Amino acid sequence: MVARSMAAATLAPMRSRAETTDQALLLRRIPFRESSLVLHLLTRDHGRIALLARGARRPSSRMRPHLTLLAPLSLRWVEARCSGMGTLTAVARGRELLPPSHHLAGLELLALAARLFHEGDGHGFAECHRSLALLGGFVLPEAGWIAAALELLHRAGWIDTLDRCWRCGSPADRLFWSAGGCRCGTCLAGARGREIGQELRRPLAAREFRWDDATLAQGREIVRTLVRRLVEG
Ligand SMILES: [Zn+2]
Repeated sequence: MVARSMAAATLAPMRSRAETTDQALLLRRIPFRESSLVLHLLTRDHGRIALLARGARRPSSRMRPHLTLLAPLSLRWVEARCSGMGTLTAVARGRELLPPSHHLAGLELLALAARLFHEGDGHGFAECHRSLALLGGFVLPEAGWIAAALELLHRAGWIDTLDRCWRCGSPADRLFWSAGGCRCGTCLAGARGREIGQELRRPLAAREFRWDDATLAQGREIVRTLVRRLVEG
């Protein structure tokens, strides 16, 4: 409702051009010219898009307080006349998805999502939203970040989950992290590997527990290895 009333107030001069609405998560705000912003967004129905928010850096801008990260946004925009960026005409933010203690981890998750889903990709919103919700369900933000990053990498099709061997698919009792992958004892074939902790194999079941330092260190190392591979292509 808020979005509708805002849109009605802001859109009057632009009625002649087709408007589009959608739900979105904001990935980045980039200053543009003197007072505007370029927004990178994951939208529910239009995938990843970029929009221009004219005047949104001005203190008086009505859009400005709504253009926050880590909250779902209701958007309205007009498409570009030719090719190029559409222009945001109204925005209303929903409730924040994370408590303040989890914000830093949430921002890292958005940065990862920005790497995984590119402009023109038709998906990303549901995957990112789900991962942020997962992070928010963890008592410890650091454990939540590891679980949510693994979930996002999995949902983006980048990795399998850590509860089965990435080579043969076996849901073995013991799985090992070796050479940047998850291996069962058979596929490990004598190579060096460290057993993957139960919390990392089934993070949802362990979200209310305090993870020990060794598990956190292993989780960080696994995510770091996977992200490095993603960045290096
Ligand atoms: Zn295997």
